[in-house]
Amino acid sequence: MADECQYCGADVDASPPVRETGYLYGIECRRCPPGRRRSLVLSRPGPVDELECPDCGAVLAPAGSHEDVLVVKEMTFVVCPACGERCDVYAVRKLRDVSGGTM
Ligand SMILES: [Zn+2]
Ligand SMILES: [Zn+2]
Repeated sequence: MADECQYCGADVDASPPVRETGYLYGIECRRCPPGRRRSLVLSRPGPVDELECPDCGAVLAPAGSHEDVLVVKEMTFVVCPACGERCDVYAVRKLRDVSGGTM
């Protein structure tokens, strides 16, 4: 883990650690036209009920178990006390992974 913020260089261990959680959803939307279909990672502040494909607008629900949602990760970030950026990943918890290890 980095001791310095990669954005502003502040020492992130000097102050009491600031953590922030967020969710990452790895999707592969089957409603997108085959030529444009791609893997996408959507970031959300917390668990959500549904996701919208940013390419075609299709709604994937429920987000936690839809067949096009391949990966769900709960992320814990280290937040820089100086600039407020998420400067490192503290922990990753995989809640779902049906991608076969591709995401
Ligand atoms: Zn789509
Ligand atoms: Zn910083």
